[in-house]
Amino acid sequence: MHARLSSLNLDVQRSSLTEAAEAEWALVRGGGAARLAVLTRSADARLLGELEGETSSAAGGTLLLGPTSPRNAAALRRALPWLAPRPLGLATSAGLGDRLGLATPGHVRAVRAAGGRIAPIFAQQSIREMSRTARTPLEVMDAATWGAFQEGWRDPVGADADHLKTPADIDACAAAGFCFFTIDPSEHVDPRADSLSLPALREAFGALPWPSFGDSADGLTRRYLGRTFPVEHLQIPFDEATLVRAGVKYGRAVVHVAAMYQHLVRTMAGRPFELEVSVDETETPTSPAEHFWVASELKRLGVSWVSLAPRFVGRFEKGVDYIGNLAELETAIAAHAAVARHCGPYKLSLHSGSDKFGVYPIAARLTAGLVHLKTAGTSYLEALRTVAALAPSFFRSIYEFARGRYETDRASYHVSASLARAPRPEAVGDAALAGLLEQFDAREILHVTFGSVLREGVVDGRPRFYAELMGLLRSNPEAYAANLESHFRRHLEPFVPWAAGGVPSGATVPARAGRD
Ligand code: ZN
Repeated sequence: MHARLSSLNLDVQRSSLTEAAEAEWALVRGGGAARLAVLTRSADARLLGELEGETSSAAGGTLLLGPTSPRNAAALRRALPWLAPRPLGLATSAGLGDRLGLATPGHVRAVRAAGGRIAPIFAQQSIREMSRTARTPLEVMDAATWGAFQEGWRDPVGADADHLKTPADIDACAAAGFCFFTIDPSEHVDPRADSLSLPALREAFGALPWPSFGDSADGLTRRYLGRTFPVEHLQIPFDEATLVRAGVKYGRAVVHVAAMYQHLVRTMAGRPFELEVSVDETETPTSPAEHFWVASELKRLGVSWVSLAPRFVGRFEKGVDYIGNLAELETAIAAHAAVARHCGPYKLSLHSGSDKFGVYPIAARLTAGLVHLKTAGTSYLEALRTVAALAPSFFRSIYEFARGRYETDRASYHVSASLARAPRPEAVGDAALAGLLEQFDAREILHVTFGSVLREGVVDGRPRFYAELMGLLRSNPEAYAANLESHFRRHLEPFVPWAAGGVPSGATVPARAGRD
């Protein structure tokens, strides 16, 4: 078969053209929504039976034109198996979350522009953000599939079911084909441990759920108390305060992760998957000793995982650069990376990882590429940047609305923007509106209010913002993709020299950082 689809009178998206399963596949435009075109040599009943759409005779074969529906997305992942997510292992990787379902083409272009060596996760959304955007796990999955198909992406992709808190979350995401599961036990982390006195810590330690821990307080104490663990350049001593504080703070979280892991093993029933443990959304930083304790106890309980996100020192606020002392952060990353190599190796995961341009070179070097970068909301901000240029007054009304929602919506996020410092909408001229995306306060305000903006109720029979926002992005896909590409190149490029086991010339590799 030689590219006969392109000889038909169809507006074929050239980057999507591919041959597989004895058929030719492409995305076609024209007449509004994109459609799937499949041209088979003969009427392949089995293949056509898996697809939905209208068939006709064309170019000596059978042409099917169908919607970008869940059924066709599933058939696509079967026929073009590289589109089906798979575990990425220890490869340097990046999660590029997409709340609108239109960002994958721009993400693909950014990964390619950065050299193509970072393993990407295009389908990634937390349960919290799925409910805020009224999307199902399958919709998240399918949007990434269609975007990767459109751009002709053929390298491995992962799919991250992010910040899962309950077994039901696991079930919903496993059914949709996710294979990277981020378990968030933060509700079981006890932040009071950092301020309790030693007697109070002893009492709380004694009250831990020891049966589900598979151990006794005595057994645990024997394994740690008075011992010092050498971990690369670190000596990690466990005096009583360190041990009982780690136990009180993270003990229930460890038990929860182990239970979730067991549920995952049963649910996946032999299908390959990988696990991430994230404690980033907690009040106080994770010390290297606490990280070591959590990793050691998870291992003892039979959990295996590919990446772990500690809560770092300083502030990783949404959508803005790191706030804090970079030298202090550097020391912390060096210690956490050492623990991750020693106890794993597994990757260190950077959550709320978008826009942390000061952190990337440090994290890439100190982990030697054994790192996962996770971003989510910053692609929505690039959508707003696109809209600010296309429809200034519409963007201004979104910003005005976002300001009104900020004090309410900020509650579930770590942000410090102030309404008083953010420019007033009427004071910003059309040409300067996109500049609001560079102003710290306005940027955070726009970031945390996305759910309200997307779901804001109907006015005069129409959703107030959602339909117009999506319509603008759908009819200007190149503008959105270009903004995403240049934004994410800056995220990915610092990691590229270290990806795929590389070492930049002149760089020193951390001790024992070799990978096989
Ligand atoms: Zn996170």
